[in-house]
Amino acid sequence: SKWVYGFGGGRAEGRADMKNLLGGKGANLAEMANLGIPVPPGFTIPTEVCTYYYSNGNTYPAALIEQVAEALNRVEEIMGAKFGDAANPLLVSVRSGARASMPGMMDTILNLGLNDVSVEGLAKRSGDARFAYDSYRRFIQMYSDVVLGVEHHHFEDILEEAKTDRDITLDTELTADDWKKVVGKYKDKVLAQLGAPFPQDVHDQLWGAVGAVFGSWMNQRAITYRRLHDIPEIWGTAVNVQAMVFGNMGDDCCTGVCFTRDPSNGDNDFYGEFLVNAQGEDVVAGIRTPQQLTKHGRELQRSDLPSMEEVMPEVFRELNAIRHKLEAHYTDMQDMEFTVQQKRLWMLQTRTGKRTTNAALKIAVDMAREGLITRKEAIGRIDPAALDQLLHPTLDPKAERNLLARGLPASPGAASGKVVFSAEDAEAWVKDKKEQVILVRIETSPEDIGGMHVSQGILTTRGGMTSHAAVVARGMGTPCVAGCGEVRVDYAAKTLKVAGRVVSEGDVITIDGGTGEVFLGAVPTVQPELTGDFATLMEWVDTIRILKVRANAETPTDAATARKFGAEGIGLCRTEHMFFAPERILAVREMILAANEKGRRTALAKLLPFQRQDFTDLFNIMQGLPVTIRLLDPPLHEFLPHTDAEIDEIAAAAGVEPDAVKARNASLHESNPMLGHRGCRLGITYPEIYEMQARAIFEAAVQVSRETGRTVTPEIMIPLVGAKKELDILKASIDKVALAVFEESAYQLKYMVGTMIELPRAALLAGQIAESAEFFSFGTNDLTQTTFGMSRDDSGPFLEVYRAKGIYEHDPFAQLDQAGVGELVKIASERGRAARPGLKLGICGEHGGDPSSIAFCQSVGLDYVSCSPYRVPIARLAAAQAAL
Ligand code: ADP
Ligand code: MG
Ligand code: MG
Repeated sequence: SKWVYGFGGGRAEGRADMKNLLGGKGANLAEMANLGIPVPPGFTIPTEVCTYYYSNGNTYPAALIEQVAEALNRVEEIMGAKFGDAANPLLVSVRSGARASMPGMMDTILNLGLNDVSVEGLAKRSGDARFAYDSYRRFIQMYSDVVLGVEHHHFEDILEEAKTDRDITLDTELTADDWKKVVGKYKDKVLAQLGAPFPQDVHDQLWGAVGAVFGSWMNQRAITYRRLHDIPEIWGTAVNVQAMVFGNMGDDCCTGVCFTRDPSNGDNDFYGEFLVNAQGEDVVAGIRTPQQLTKHGRELQRSDLPSMEEVMPEVFRELNAIRHKLEAHYTDMQDMEFTVQQKRLWMLQTRTGKRTTNAALKIAVDMAREGLITRKEAIGRIDPAALDQLLHPTLDPKAERNLLARGLPASPGAASGKVVFSAEDAEAWVKDKKEQVILVRIETSPEDIGGMHVSQGILTTRGGMTSHAAVVARGMGTPCVAGCGEVRVDYAAKTLKVAGRVVSEGDVITIDGGTGEVFLGAVPTVQPELTGDFATLMEWVDTIRILKVRANAETPTDAATARKFGAEGIGLCRTEHMFFAPERILAVREMILAANEKGRRTALAKLLPFQRQDFTDLFNIMQGLPVTIRLLDPPLHEFLPHTDAEIDEIAAAAGVEPDAVKARNASLHESNPMLGHRGCRLGITYPEIYEMQARAIFEAAVQVSRETGRTVTPEIMIPLVGAKKELDILKASIDKVALAVFEESAYQLKYMVGTMIELPRAALLAGQIAESAEFFSFGTNDLTQTTFGMSRDDSGPFLEVYRAKGIYEHDPFAQLDQAGVGELVKIASERGRAARPGLKLGICGEHGGDPSSIAFCQSVGLDYVSCSPYRVPIARLAAAQAAL
């Protein structure tokens, strides 16, 4: 079989689409050679050899040695030099290159093929001993470090000493004799460290380097990187062996990196940097200040150093032509590496360039307008998750900042405010003192909702990316830094401490939920721009996508944000969120703690006008778009009073003894409330609760329909259904309320009653349930909890271990578990639609805003996804990509 793929001299055996076999670097070197772009000749040992190596006890296929020798011969012919020759030596680089670019891999080795004899040959032929010995010392250092394991710093020390002795600062100022001495000392060092001399046989050098590339596939850095980036071990890496060209032969030589467009803002400007008389990674290593490629770039950077366009105009023109050629060929922005040897240009690498999200948008939209790509391709180019950065205020990059601590980037956006330590204080400070606050808590709980809502930002010292604070903050679009462990909160003293610094209540801090950073004082922010390229791309997105996108929203602010971001309705209005406001919580508690139905009805009557107003507001903002309202869902304990003062207050409001309230409070205690008295079970046991909510919905719908002339069609959703009978009972009571309201108001409208599918039983019995339910919405947060038998709030610590051990690949609360939970979604969809053709299907919960989960939703044929308002654009884009 074929174990070696040659390239160079105007042709190649590989192609760009052979990345799996040749790795990214090798495939693109071959492609460039085929395009007639000057590429130093060489050959690629494919990833298959790596796979062979590891499945055959670290040995090579028998034919490899011979095929490498033949390929090397061809390179020698093209270059007119011989590997290991004393008079005219061919030098090569050995470069690793996996399918995906992988920083964990072996560093490139340059100038391989030099030894004590060939270095003299190189010196004579080039007429430049300084260059020859500079190359040799680079080789010894790299090879010793990367292949032989002699640490870098040994060589750095020797070089520093040499420069100090000569009283100079730049490497380029060392003479041939200086480098000769350095080379001698390097070799002594290797001998002392290893007890063996630096290898002089060039074939030993070559195979040593090839072995080191394959060996590096299994080093710890690479393994860790692969785990973090989901790169399978069986992919393996390729090895590229390539004739050296020299950027360090004098002042008509250079080496550099460049991008076909500006990777920071996406402008169609040639952008790049280079260093004269330098080699390899000198530009990246920052040993000298690099020069700009273009005059324009030099002006932008206010650099005193002349640009390549100015000092090497012909080479620059050639490079610029290759820039256009490569970009047109690959139809995407390229990141390229090049070297100029005595005014002759050589391309050493090209690949798709990394870019900021803003640049990605601009480049995609520009390229579609230029006709280089289609609009569909433009849509496919943007990472939906990356859009998040653009939708929130961010810190002004020019602003000064004083870093205090670092936590998890739990919800993006930046915000400043005065520190408060409780949700009540947050509400009081905002309402009474008109202050802007940052709520600082060890962790948050559902009763903090009100305070979280009015805060500019939330900082917690405990909990992860799916902690209550993180999930709720993301839902609200409020910046949040979670799990900031270095911060110590003292609730009693109302202070937080970090690294000896104390911040008291009322002091101003700034949090950046996109980076997890916390700053002392106010750092100015800049507002997101939702116009221009972003708006253009989103327009295109909406012409492609099939899935509708709705938002989870309860408050007028959230609903308005959702509309601004293009939501096509509300997919989940969690009515319990409306109950935590201070003027309502008392009535809610009174209702829960009432001894009988009469007591409950009295309390519910107080809530009705509030609830009616809530829905009136939502219907008005949504202007006839569908609104799905979920009736009361959470375990009652979330509303229970904690303090004696709170209990006394309720007792007074209800006109009963505090002890009676206390007793009732105690009797409502549940040991496992998430699986307890919640969801439709509340509606079954206390029908008057859902009756009140239904009445509020219908009265609001009638009012808004009448006033605006735009008919509202409410979608009423019953949570946590496990049996058709539950739904039948509750639907009957909702229908009764509807009839009553329509009669009272002499107004009729359509409405739907449906259910959330969030219990495995409901998914399995979806056929029966669909006989009564007019729509399903998959509540995948709870469905994940109930399918895994695992609580979202408690799973953080062990899920880490599970993921490390490869038991679950992803956090199932962040990314829908397609194999398990997804299977239930599929079953329920099929059985539901079999019973009721055209049954409307949606998903709410965190997964509704996760791109990979959205693709899944499309594949099982859901009608819409619903997500938090700030994720609406992300979901729109992900839905379009799922439809491409
Ligand atoms: P990385 O994967 O880290 O980018 P590369 O294999 O691209 O590593 O090598 C790094 C640098 O080494 C290149 O950008 C180039 O400057 C230099 N280099 C590699 N091969 C050669 C060569 N054959 N001739 C001259 N320079 C080379
Ligand atoms: Mg490179
Ligand atoms: Mg639920």
